[in-house]
Formats: sequence, C-alpha cells, structure tokens
Amino acid sequence: MLNNKIQDALCAQINAEFWSAYLYLSMAMNFENKGLSGVANWFSIQFKEEQAHAQIFMDYVNQRGGKVTLLPIDAVPSEWSTPLEAFKATLEHEKKVTSLINDLFTLAEEEKDHATRDRLLWFIKEQVEEEDTARQLIDKFTLVGDNGMGLYMLDQELASRTYTAPSILSED
Ligand code: MG
Repeated sequence: MLNNKIQDALCAQINAEFWSAYLYLSMAMNFENKGLSGVANWFSIQFKEEQAHAQIFMDYVNQRGGKVTLLPIDAVPSEWSTPLEAFKATLEHEKKVTSLINDLFTLAEEEKDHATRDRLLWFIKEQVEEEDTARQLIDKFTLVGDNGMGLYMLDQELASRTYTAPSILSED
C-alpha cells in the first residue's frame, strides 16, 4: 500500500505530466497555425509521450492499491513566435519537471518506499533524455537562425518523428 503522503505526491505528479501534455499540445497547435507542420508534429508526439508518463504513474498508483485523483489542469501559454523560442521554453519546463521528479525521489527515500523509488528511476533517466533532446533542438534552430531554407529543412526533419509507446507501459 502507498502511504497518503506518497499517494498525494504521485497524484500531483500525474497532474504535472498532464500539464506538460497540454503545454506541448498548445505548442503543436501554435506551429500548425504558423505553417510549420513538422515542428507541430514533433510537439504532438511530445503530447503523446507526456500522456504516457501520466499513464505510467496512474498504473503504478493502481498497482500499489492506491487511488488516483485527477486534479484540475491549469491554463497553458498559447503563443510562441519561433521554434527556437518554443524549444527554449521546453528546456526550461523539462528542467522544472526534473526537479519535481528529484523531489519525489527524495520523498520516497524519506518514507522508505523502495518500490516508488525504483519506479522513479525510469523517470530520472527519461528526464536526462528530455533535456538533452531540447538542448539539441535549441542548437539546431540557433544555427539556422532566420535562414528560410534552414528552417524548411529542420521542419522536414521534425516531420519524420514517430511515436513509440514506452516499453514500461506494456511490461506491467
Ligand atoms: Mg514527462
């Protein structure tokens, strides 16, 4: 069984993952509107990944005999003028998520909840990837600057991203 402190913290994290999903969906809609459908595709896959993160936490709470309470999702921004601006916002957001996951890990240690601690290890690794990917995209969009051909080519590159559900979702 999960103790109440851990259960509440996991429900708060589920909410944070859905907020992330909503943020990236908003970015996808913003770039769809601006004619950058490759960038929009990248963010719509990010939207699916964040929903998968929430699902992993929800499955885990249920598996431990806990109850998932879904909290209201706060409003998200809706305007980013360039992909560079959006990827910078993505990196800043993912850094915040990393610190939330780290705080959860510390709480699990304090509460001697080893199973929760173990599940969080997957997210700790995932956050390293999320931040690294955002940094790489910031570098690429910084490199092309205002060059139209460069932007067109990067948009094409991001159009090829496809969604793969995390394998952890099918393990349980
Ligand atoms: Mg996430």
